[in-house]
Amino acid sequence: MTWSFETRQVHAGAEPDPTTGARVTPIYQTTSFAFRDAEHAAEAFALRDLETHAYTRLSNPTTVVVEARLADLEGGRAAVAVASGQAATTVALLNIARAGDHLVSAASLYGGTYNLLAYTFADLGVEVTFVDPDDPEQWRAAVRPNTKAFYAEAIGNPRGNVLDVAAVADVAHEAGVPLVVDNTVPTPYLSRPIEHGADVVVHSTTKFLSGHGTGIGGAVVDSGRFDFGAEPGRWPQLTAPDPSYHGLVFRDEFGDLAYSLRLRTRLVRDLGPAVSPFNSFLLLQGIETLSLRLDRHVANARRVAEHLAGRPEVTEVHYAGLPGNRWHDAARRYHPLGVGAVVAFELAGGLEAGRRFVDRLELFSHLANIGDVRSLVIHPASTTHAQLTPEQQVASGVTPGLIRLSVGIEGIADLLADLDRGLADG
Ligand code: PLP
Repeated sequence: MTWSFETRQVHAGAEPDPTTGARVTPIYQTTSFAFRDAEHAAEAFALRDLETHAYTRLSNPTTVVVEARLADLEGGRAAVAVASGQAATTVALLNIARAGDHLVSAASLYGGTYNLLAYTFADLGVEVTFVDPDDPEQWRAAVRPNTKAFYAEAIGNPRGNVLDVAAVADVAHEAGVPLVVDNTVPTPYLSRPIEHGADVVVHSTTKFLSGHGTGIGGAVVDSGRFDFGAEPGRWPQLTAPDPSYHGLVFRDEFGDLAYSLRLRTRLVRDLGPAVSPFNSFLLLQGIETLSLRLDRHVANARRVAEHLAGRPEVTEVHYAGLPGNRWHDAARRYHPLGVGAVVAFELAGGLEAGRRFVDRLELFSHLANIGDVRSLVIHPASTTHAQLTPEQQVASGVTPGLIRLSVGIEGIADLLADLDRGLADG
């Protein structure tokens, strides 16, 4: 019998500690692990023994539980936890794209991801074409012979646009490339892109998964389904001998674990974005209550969205949970339990009204994060998306009067009263 999501979010990947019996996964706050003998050490370094932990930059027993749990909840084959969501996106894409290669990405993205893809990847020689995620023709038209992946957010931050995962996955697979989806905003409780055809899922675990605003982290979950052997010449990273492992060929050696193992043993090993065991522990505590928190986040977010939609100072509410929203049908298809708790809206008074609004709130914290039990607010045009040109801001869904809320789990009457305080005249 397969356990329910609610059971797996508590138990998947965890056992009582084999040495002490500790029921909760301990924090293995150690950089390194002693080898039994020289042979044991050599086997671990040659990737012939994958159970052994050698050094926490590569793997750690606390983090391994996070990885097993996230792979299980997303329906993936394997996961690698890293130090941040940015690191997750970076290594997920650099695992298959190198200088001279090309990617196609949704234009509506978290501002940090836009910067990463548009500027830092350009510096690394990887070019990215940005497209309207809702238009399969734009995805198709952007493909080049050197395209290596498609990238999009399951629910866009901040506009709340819902990705038609199956439609974009179909175009990606016609083009022979994997679809990588950032599932940060919904979390696997509300949507599982791999079930709809995505090949790889990335997370900023900093947000709803961890849930309490305590630890930066990220993860890459691989479905193990993309067939890198179909066109071996296109994926030399996985199909050609790796000089840093004495000519080992990842795909031949590890099959459907090749992508995740190379990501860990080449990119995390060499670039070094390892997550601290303490942050992995905090993340595990968060994941254990994910469904409970998300049900509450979603119920509150829905009430907030409805309330704002009824206020004359608000010209538009971006929340696909509201009937009439452009992505409402996609939301019902991909997110039957709700579209998360990021609610954005436009103030009639534009930039000035936006700044006044955030300054007046008392309960909502004004800060640059989402996915905390506390309610959060920010004005993206002057903060998270400020580095973008006005045209790029519009493509990312950011207008001067846009306010982004991450609705927490507090009492709904208190949240609505705070929002009314922010909107009041004078
Ligand atoms: N993806 C999304 C949708 C985000 O909202 C964020 C951060 O805000 C990130 C990725 C980056 O994650 P991190 O801040 O953990 O690096």
